[in-house]
Amino acid sequence: MNRYASDSERELLLTPGPLTTARATREAMLRDRGSRDGDFIAMTARIRSRTLAIANASPSHVCVPIQGSGTFAVEAMLGTMVPAGGKVLVLANGAYGRRMAAICGRIGRAHQVIETDEDTAPDPATVDAALADDPGLSHVAVVHCETTSGILNPVEEIAQAVAARGRALLIDGMSAFGALPFDAVDVPFAALAASPNKCLEGVPGMAFVLAERDALDAARDRAPSLALDLYDQWQALEANGQWRFTPPTHVVAAFDAALAAHAREGGVAARGARYRENCAILVEGMRALGFVPYLPARRQAPIIVTFHRPADPGFDFGAFYDRLKARGIVIYPGKVTQAETFRMGCIGDLRPEDMRRAVRAVAEVVDEMGLERLGPG
Ligand SMILES: *Cc1c(COP(=O)(O)O)cnc(C)c1O
Repeated sequence: MNRYASDSERELLLTPGPLTTARATREAMLRDRGSRDGDFIAMTARIRSRTLAIANASPSHVCVPIQGSGTFAVEAMLGTMVPAGGKVLVLANGAYGRRMAAICGRIGRAHQVIETDEDTAPDPATVDAALADDPGLSHVAVVHCETTSGILNPVEEIAQAVAARGRALLIDGMSAFGALPFDAVDVPFAALAASPNKCLEGVPGMAFVLAERDALDAARDRAPSLALDLYDQWQALEANGQWRFTPPTHVVAAFDAALAAHAREGGVAARGARYRENCAILVEGMRALGFVPYLPARRQAPIIVTFHRPADPGFDFGAFYDRLKARGIVIYPGKVTQAETFRMGCIGDLRPEDMRRAVRAVAEVVDEMGLERLGPG
């Protein structure tokens, strides 16, 4: 339950998801809808075409929605797009890259991992060399924004390197899709997994994959999972517009409303601009207090910011978290393995005034806890 009465007092989720959503998005869920009803079928068609349009990926690609959290779409993508005899080169600089490698292991797809430090982007030249070295590598898998640290990975350059070697690219675009420019005409990719519940500001419960039509068409009877078979899911949708199994109707309705809001705001350019402003206010405000971001500014995506844990012996993350939460600001623990950190997100239905409110709350808590050394060393 939200204890905060008005929208200016609402609880703000400065997290990588679930996120703060707009009232209109939540209100779209107040009606029950039949999954085989014409309205709901039209809604499903709308979210499929709108997500493709965001990536300028029609008619080259198709959108296949899938029930579950974002990881379900990543697993469906790997299982459906990579044949049993294929081999995936996984680029990992955080937990989500490592998760793709773990999925390959679990579903029995051969893979090789190129791991870089969590503050370092994968190098397209290294990818090119690996592909030249091993003709058995059929696919490359990369994370666009690695939410573990908030680092922006160079998907465009990697896509060019992969295409030049005639291999197929699979992208975990989850935390960037809808806010960072991404054009299927410039960035060749076989499939991209994303979710309504990140930069598109929907609610959690479903995800989707944009898959190259021809590559998906060749993927019949390939997925090792029945429920996570994107080919079957696609064929069912193409046949009668309906989902194969019970769809999360309320989540789809919220996504439909969130996509309409995304278009009204001005699409990717406007959404990205708002997040960049949010991020700048957050980073400048936290720096002014004495906190130090984990990433160099040029590698920071405007999605989520990792800060070093303050060196002050009086700092305790649990107490810091609780005191911020009492002020309606929810932050997130760190996830990088190479440093002690915590994270604050810039995405969701958050505006500059919300970010200023968050920084003010941090200043109050720092004062209350008597913290002085806010940098890492
Ligand atoms: C959020 C996210 C996911 C999906 O995580 P779920 O918890 O399964 O929704 C996958 N990849 C990235 C990069 C993410 O940020």
